[in-house]
Amino acid sequence: MEPMMDAWAVTRPGPIASGPLSRVRRRVPEPRGHELLIEVLACAVCRTDLHLAEGDLAPRRPDTVPGHEVVGRVDALGPHADSYAPGDRVGVAWLASTCGECGYCLRGDENLCPDSTYTGWDRDGGFARYLTADERFVHPLPEALPDTTAAPLLCAGVIGHRALGRAELPEGGVLGIYGFGASAHLTAQVALARGATVHVMTRSRRARELALELGCHSAAGAYDTPPEPLDSAILFAPVGELVPTALRALDRGGTLAVAGVHLSVIPPLDYRRHLFQERSLRSVTANTRADAREFLDFASGHELAVTVTPYPFESADLALADLAADRVDGAAVLRL
Ligand SMILES: [Zn+2]
Ligand SMILES: [Zn+2]
Repeated sequence: MEPMMDAWAVTRPGPIASGPLSRVRRRVPEPRGHELLIEVLACAVCRTDLHLAEGDLAPRRPDTVPGHEVVGRVDALGPHADSYAPGDRVGVAWLASTCGECGYCLRGDENLCPDSTYTGWDRDGGFARYLTADERFVHPLPEALPDTTAAPLLCAGVIGHRALGRAELPEGGVLGIYGFGASAHLTAQVALARGATVHVMTRSRRARELALELGCHSAAGAYDTPPEPLDSAILFAPVGELVPTALRALDRGGTLAVAGVHLSVIPPLDYRRHLFQERSLRSVTANTRADAREFLDFASGHELAVTVTPYPFESADLALADLAADRVDGAAVLRL
């Protein structure tokens, strides 16, 4: 008899109320080539999982197991895997593979590789007891971090770190953060640790409270004007209507980075009001392995306050529904 496991799969992409996620029984996967078989200890729930469940991101294969912020323990090695040993604790993130040969890969922009694949989209992710991952794309984790704390660092933290870079925040500058979920609450702390002034704009009252507790300088409603012009802004909420609002809040020469993988339609922009005076609008596309290493290094040297709302594995569907309804403080994390 083949060993079996419990998992959650996106069986009917659609609105969260229609139940796009189903409990399934799957064969425990076998590690091939450079893959590791990893026993999942914790898996954070990312907004991208919600976009996949709801069909905002079209499925790349049917019945995929979501989850790409996985903390696990190496259980078995594929025939060519030699970087880790059984028992090692590792992190599995969104970027699952790249071609390694295209111009983007060769110049260090592997996040733009046209042949890249993603955990929980092109291959099964961590809403399961086990998954396999290519050892060249998994990350060693700082030992001091508990599983549930480490999990949200792997996408929420890493993407926020990349977004901060894309937003060109100057030394000691003023940063505006639009939307304050898992990624934003980590990014704010990184910016504060670097001496930035941080203003948060979000519709959730509890998120505004958390922002102030973490040391952000102000917290207001999503469409409110921050108390001073912003050198940089990051849009975490997947709401295109906020783009003109955030652009107007920028100082001359300021930069707005859109952190999400999906955004609702951006209303028409007015060149003079929104972009003139060298304001920039940029996207953030996944992350490189170097981004992940940099951020995990930072996290092991700084005491990030990771706010976690834990869910048992059996309640993955509830975790997604709560994320959709803004009922999650910080990061939702499934515990196995
Ligand atoms: Zn490539
Ligand atoms: Zn993610």
